[in-house]
Amino acid sequence: DELISQIAAGEVVERPASVVRELVDNALDAGATQITVKLLAGGIRQILIEDDGCGIPIDELPLALKRHATSKIRSLNDLESVLTMGFRGEALAAVSSVAEMALSSRTANDAHAHRLDARSGELTPAARGVGTSVEVRELFFNTPARRKFLKSENTELAHCVDAVRRHALARPDVAFTVWHEGKLVEQWRAGDQEQRLRDVLGEAFVRDSRPVEWQIGPVRVTGRAGIPDAARSRADQQYCYVNGRFVRDKLLVHGARAAYEDVLHGHRQPVYALFVEITPELVDVNVHPTKIEVRFRDGREVHQAVRKAVEAALAVSRA
Ligand code: ADP
Ligand code: MG
Repeated sequence: DELISQIAAGEVVERPASVVRELVDNALDAGATQITVKLLAGGIRQILIEDDGCGIPIDELPLALKRHATSKIRSLNDLESVLTMGFRGEALAAVSSVAEMALSSRTANDAHAHRLDARSGELTPAARGVGTSVEVRELFFNTPARRKFLKSENTELAHCVDAVRRHALARPDVAFTVWHEGKLVEQWRAGDQEQRLRDVLGEAFVRDSRPVEWQIGPVRVTGRAGIPDAARSRADQQYCYVNGRFVRDKLLVHGARAAYEDVLHGHRQPVYALFVEITPELVDVNVHPTKIEVRFRDGREVHQAVRKAVEAALAVSRA
């Protein structure tokens, strides 16, 4: 069972950033409005994530670490229409099989918090407000082969920050703070989407970009499309979301690129943040363990929607 968990963990947990992504998912699912990420050694030595969400009731704390234990889905039918970030009940179990982990949590009904040490199962009183803290230490300490594959601390840190950035772009209503080795790395205050885009992607991006707003049938596309600037753009600054979830999807990227080529005849990497909203039944989010890939029932329709949406935005800038 330990081995099975570790194999499953390999699919979910590749590097510290994967842990950050899953834990921030959970904090958002818990309704947090403030999420703090504290890292040591690029997240390899420690990832501490604190949220002010609903907390975990004391009798559910041990359950949260069990594989396939999730409080977010009641039947297989729910899989079709999951709107929460998590839904497989795998993340905490996976992380606790490849790292030292402790959960501290307090609900509005608790007089104080409780801390659960994943390895010993020991439950002790703890001090914190309503919400949850998840502490992950020494990632891959028990799977040295995997630990060897990690990159430098700086690279792992950059991936961790990127994981938070992806969430932050989708949730401007939530405040995010990232610390590394006791130093403040990023701080994004709660606000509206334009403010968040400015804070995360920069003043220049907001100035040199156009709002995207388009609907075809069941597909709605919003966000901002930047005017490519060779000096600033990088290959990894294309942010695509489907129903609030960050995705890496060739179809969406291709649709956007086609629009850039049609309107600007440009081949440089553009910066954009595109939010696709689609009826949940028309997209399968359950095709990849890390939930980063999706499958659309009608890919052509979505591709067209993105292409038209970005074209319309860019055409305005050219006029
Ligand atoms: P999933 O998110 O797919 O349900 P996880 O392994 O990520 O599975 O989490 C297991 C369970 O632990 C969740 O269903 C939730 O009940 C609880 N949980 C985890 N993190 C938090 C958090 N930050 N706040 C409140 N509950 C949490
Ligand atoms: Mg989860």
